[in-house]
Amino acid sequence: MLRYSVQRLSLIYEESFGIMKKILKPLLLTVFPLIFIMTYVVVFKYMSATEEKIMDNYIDKLRYEYDIIVSEYTNMANFINLNQIQKESVLEVLYDASLTEDELVKNELRATLLRQLSPLYNNLKTFNFRQLHFHTADNLSFLRFHKPETYGDDLMGIRLSVEYVNREKKSISGFEEGRIFNGYRNLYPLMYNEKHIGSVEISISIAAIIDQIANLYHQESQFILLKSVVLEKVFSSEQSNYSEWTIDPRFVLDKGLVENYSLADHILKKDSDRIAKSLSSSLLDGEPFSIEVNYDQEKRVLSFLPIRNFTGNTVAYLFLNSDNERLVELRRSFWLITSSFLCLIVLLAFIVVYSTYTGRRIKYMAFNDQLTGISSRRMILTKLKEEYLRSKRYGTVFSICMIDIDHFKNVNDTYGHMIGDHVLKELATVVIKNIRSTDHFGRYGGEEFILILLETEGDAALHFLDDLRLKIAQHQFATIGNLTISGGIATYTHKYECSEDLIDDADKNLYLAKKNGRNQVVFEV
Ligand code: GH3
Ligand code: MG
Ligand code: MG
Repeated sequence: MLRYSVQRLSLIYEESFGIMKKILKPLLLTVFPLIFIMTYVVVFKYMSATEEKIMDNYIDKLRYEYDIIVSEYTNMANFINLNQIQKESVLEVLYDASLTEDELVKNELRATLLRQLSPLYNNLKTFNFRQLHFHTADNLSFLRFHKPETYGDDLMGIRLSVEYVNREKKSISGFEEGRIFNGYRNLYPLMYNEKHIGSVEISISIAAIIDQIANLYHQESQFILLKSVVLEKVFSSEQSNYSEWTIDPRFVLDKGLVENYSLADHILKKDSDRIAKSLSSSLLDGEPFSIEVNYDQEKRVLSFLPIRNFTGNTVAYLFLNSDNERLVELRRSFWLITSSFLCLIVLLAFIVVYSTYTGRRIKYMAFNDQLTGISSRRMILTKLKEEYLRSKRYGTVFSICMIDIDHFKNVNDTYGHMIGDHVLKELATVVIKNIRSTDHFGRYGGEEFILILLETEGDAALHFLDDLRLKIAQHQFATIGNLTISGGIATYTHKYECSEDLIDDADKNLYLAKKNGRNQVVFEV
């Protein structure tokens, strides 16, 4: 039963393990690691590309928010201009002012306009509008509702938007830094009795945009302005409205917007430096950018959107502080994919190693005797058949010896089965030591062994086996001391029709040896 299952396993081994060894081992050593590395590289490249896309999305989102908010305010400003500014009562006052050089009259008209539109301006402020500013046709400030006492200053070279509207008599919208405030400005030409009498500006502060982003998206955003622009454009009396940005001294913060907030308090110095570096290149190429930073020990993404003025120069940045959930999600999927893949590869490698190990065990069990480790019955009979066929074909000669321990039953009876087993093992060792490496030695069953002596005629075999018998007889076995064997020999000749006939003859001779008194070797043809 055991032999049957071992043989079956052996066949399975021959068929499947052979293939495994041929295919899976190179797979394990080269193809699997190569597949893993290639997959890792491809997935990593894909992840980097997706990470870039996600970073771009942050920018797109900010730009989108900015554009939407700004266009909402522009629509509102258009509406206010049409309904509240472009009307007889307002235009008449400005028309009168355009006709006189008398400063007293002008002041009176200014006061009239202020009175007339103050309720509107107060309403506008609650909607985040910051400026309602009238200019004369020759680009002088006529009335600033946010600073009525400051007027008459020349805006030429300072407020290009004002120059444009007065020159082209067309409305315009966009960001522009100013004498007092910066902001997103909507300017409209003013005409009365077909005469160009100046322009009006209805502007929002950047605070409006920041507030809207905070309200709509619950995300913090900030605004930074180039310091050089502030130094050049803003009244020196108003420059105290700005404070230096700690991350990068080339920029200032509008104090009205920050409320003691300092980004530098939340991020690391190295991240500040990275931001400053990216700002430098963005100032050159005008491109927006996003940076992942450690913000209060948590990773967040800061996105910087350049704000251009009417002349197309980047003068400020709007930045948004967003969570990095999409990046985390992406990285999580990346690690999930690569680690599952690695697990799969490791599992396959384990299967290959395990099957190699069990395959070897199956092979060993099929071809070796479990007790002595020498060839099993199946193996020694296979060898016998091989040698038989070889001799038949090539006319070579070989002899087989059947060896049987004398009175082995007594060993078991006297010393027990365990000692008997030890004796069998020791005998196998003694035989192995005395034969040539090309000879085959196996356990035929119980205490019977077969020895195949290659290129050995019967007489030589008789001589050799008798010699071996003597050596065994002289050997001191552990525990039991001396032991003898009997042997029967058969030598290949053409008369044998199959290998089993050789066994029969050797067995007959062994029987004779036993019959003649044991401890002897017989070779009778
Ligand atoms: P003879 O000289 O006629 O060969 O006598 P014998 O006692 O050696 O022969 P017999 O065939 O009567 O007994 C063989 C014994 O070998 C019986 C069996 O218990 C023992 N034997 C067979 N296989 C094993 C084995 O694997 N281990 C042990 N310990 N004993 C074994
Ligand atoms: Mg026997
Ligand atoms: Mg025996």
